[in-house]
Amino acid sequence: MTASEIRESFLKFFESKQHRIVPSAPMVVKDDPTLMFTNAGMNQFKDIFLGNRPAEYLRVANSQKCLRVSGKHNDLEEVGHDTYHHTMFEMLGNWSFGDYFKHEAIDWAWEYLVDVLKIDPDRLYATVFEGNAEEGLVRDSEAFEYWSKHLPAHRIVNGNKKDNFWEMGDTGPCGPCSEIHIDLRDPSARAVVPGEQLVNKDNPEVIEIWNLVFIQYNRKADGSLESLPQRHIDTGMGFERLTRAIQGKTSNYDTDVFQPIIQEISNIAGIKYGAARETDVAMRVVADHIRTISFAICDGQLPSNNKAGYVIRRILRRAVRYAYTFLGMKEPFMCRLVETLISVMGKAYTELAANRDLIEKVIREEEEAFLRTLATGIQLLDKIIEERKQKGAKTVEGKQIFELYDTFGFPYDLTELILRENGLEANHEEFEKEMEAQKARARNATAVETDDWVVLRKDDTEEFIGYDHLEAEVEIVKYRRVKSNNKELYQIVFNITPFYAESGGQVGDCGYIEAKGEKWEITEVKKENNLIVHLAPKLPTDVSARFNAVVDVRKRQMTANHHTATHLLHKALRKILGTHVEQRGSLVHPDYLRFDFSHFQKMSDEEIRMVEREVNSEIRMNLPLEEHRAIPIARAKEMGAMALFGEKYGDVVRAIRFGESVELCGGTHVSATGQIGMFKIVAESSVAAGVRRIEAVAGEKAEELMYSQNDLLRELAEILHKQKDLRKGIESLVSENAELMKEVETFKQGVIQTLKRNISDDAKVLNGVKLMHCQLKPIFSKSVKDIAFQLRSECDSSMAAVLGVEADGKAQIAIIISEELVEKGLDAIELIKAVSPEINGGGGGQKFFATAGGKNPSGLQTAISKALRLIEERL
Ligand code: ATP
Ligand code: MG
Repeated sequence: MTASEIRESFLKFFESKQHRIVPSAPMVVKDDPTLMFTNAGMNQFKDIFLGNRPAEYLRVANSQKCLRVSGKHNDLEEVGHDTYHHTMFEMLGNWSFGDYFKHEAIDWAWEYLVDVLKIDPDRLYATVFEGNAEEGLVRDSEAFEYWSKHLPAHRIVNGNKKDNFWEMGDTGPCGPCSEIHIDLRDPSARAVVPGEQLVNKDNPEVIEIWNLVFIQYNRKADGSLESLPQRHIDTGMGFERLTRAIQGKTSNYDTDVFQPIIQEISNIAGIKYGAARETDVAMRVVADHIRTISFAICDGQLPSNNKAGYVIRRILRRAVRYAYTFLGMKEPFMCRLVETLISVMGKAYTELAANRDLIEKVIREEEEAFLRTLATGIQLLDKIIEERKQKGAKTVEGKQIFELYDTFGFPYDLTELILRENGLEANHEEFEKEMEAQKARARNATAVETDDWVVLRKDDTEEFIGYDHLEAEVEIVKYRRVKSNNKELYQIVFNITPFYAESGGQVGDCGYIEAKGEKWEITEVKKENNLIVHLAPKLPTDVSARFNAVVDVRKRQMTANHHTATHLLHKALRKILGTHVEQRGSLVHPDYLRFDFSHFQKMSDEEIRMVEREVNSEIRMNLPLEEHRAIPIARAKEMGAMALFGEKYGDVVRAIRFGESVELCGGTHVSATGQIGMFKIVAESSVAAGVRRIEAVAGEKAEELMYSQNDLLRELAEILHKQKDLRKGIESLVSENAELMKEVETFKQGVIQTLKRNISDDAKVLNGVKLMHCQLKPIFSKSVKDIAFQLRSECDSSMAAVLGVEADGKAQIAIIISEELVEKGLDAIELIKAVSPEINGGGGGQKFFATAGGKNPSGLQTAISKALRLIEERL
């Protein structure tokens, strides 16, 4: 079976068991403060497990793009070195939300593996939770009993809390789990050591393929467990590992999921896969990482300098440096693998082909930038090596290596490798200490302490009524205290709420709640696992009161202006620049909007103006808001709405239309475009290869911008008070200024002639050498060199001149001597060095002409006299 056939067979199997097949959620998580990337199939159902939302279907199955490179699950350092952990992988999963439980989950897993896929049952092992006295939990004998139907008791292995008790986080739903392991060793090896002894022992050929989680408890903030009223099934099976088992390979990378990519890398590098361990590891790293980076870009996460973007950047850099060091790739090449990746995965994930240009461009740009960093890093390292060698040292300080790593993005293992080549050693302990210190700093900055929810009303799912109401009578459903950075806040959930929670790029509302004449501020509103959470600095004295909740109307309106303007802008860009323009990100704020979109060159001034005119004309048409609050997604697409990659949509969506602009959007908008008043682009720039950013203002903010520009013009006109016509005024000012400069120059030249004559007249002649000197006036500070050279060329005998000048609190000195004196051994550089300490400075030049600058003008006279005396002594 090919990989695609295996994926399909899984979905088909669970469909036959009445499961609803749902699409993979985006790999990049947008609305969950605790998670950057999807790391398991269950992530998109977290809100159901938490009881924040009822399940739409009780049985669900899918294949989910997962990424395990940060937080609780981080496999990054293994990837490439072993053959069965990836950064990005597909997780096949089936779920039951309060429906079937352990029995069916175990039976169906067995049926699928053994009856459908025909895996040799003798190679399978199961683990069950052994219990834990501290937690007061006994062995999961239920799971053991169901497995006993399929497996002899000795192949059902006990597992401890670490391996066999699954938890979502520090608090929340959890429960025992049961894993299925497969023994892929050859018969001779299996005859010597029985497989059950190798389960969960990091043997690369006896590996876990499927984990069945039985969610039946809730972990509270004090650490205790309570039983859940509803029990759920959550399973996850590694698609690449399963494929390897079915295709009879000893490594995930030998399956048709990876081989085409590995072959392409091998072609480009001119090195065979299998030639040596180091080059194999490097090829696996590259083959793995190209998938992660490409999918991240599709999901709208470009490599960048912070948060999720930085994780992606580091993964790309890891691949580049492995290829750089072990495959000799000194030029961008990852971008050339995208085509092969599309041929392997493009069918199942259409976003790849649709975003090909962007993926390739972004990767190429990142590669180029990092290769430059590597080059700089190597130079710096060379310097360090030289220094250490000169000192006869054998090691390099951890601090220096950490600085290379931290400031220049220079990887530790590469540093170590280069040092070793130079007979030096890195002080690993010191480096680790620095790393730890940095991690601790980061931890302290983000440490949050969360109390348990205090629940006042049960069975209430919160409803957002803020599309229609800006004020409402509400009650508190639950609340809890949150402490971070020594600041205490309360998170409050209401039964209904008019407050919009930050999402879809639009900032959240703020406002207050009021009861019995007392007010409590709501400073921020955020979504957490689909729950609308209101942040309040203070908790109301009587939490069971009925409150009047009031949204800050002005902020809401100004935000709506910018949100609707964003839709009109998107539409206008597609009209003026072309339909390749697609939204890549947006931020809607009361004071401005920011819109990122795909487009490959800088917009011209003319294009910007055309877009502004288009948007403003749509504003003047006063197009009414047409809101479809809940329509099937297919219907919305018919209307012309575009689904964005990297966004998760349900079957039913909200569509927003203003004239020809139709978007899938949950945000708040104006009731008709005329309300926006005016729109103005403030800046257009580049965010990444192929992605441009527009910043713009609308409504009052556009008016303010217009006034501030107007004021500037008026002020300028006032400065040029005589001129009515501002342009003419400035033009004549510029040309007058040029005229004046010319005149000044002519005058100056005249003055310089007189000055030179005076210097010459005052000269002293010694042994046929004319000795000249002068302390010039400040206006000549820029002409010192000219004057010196003229004095020299206009003198028909041997000469020496010493000139000084003071300007802007600094001193300058210049010494010039004629050729015959140079031949006699006089040296202007020597002279200048001897006198420059007088002016507290230093200098240099050539033998016949040298200059110095210094900070002590009061030493100028002394310096000049000293120079003259030195010259005289030599004549
Ligand atoms: P392991 O101990 O092998 O790292 P795990 O305990 O982290 O696995 P789970 O969190 O239970 O795995 O994930 C469910 C399934 O996903 C695993 O049984 C495995 O098949 C697969 N899986 C987990 N991590 C990875 C990974 N990094 N790359 C590929 N597949 C993985
Ligand atoms: Mg793991």
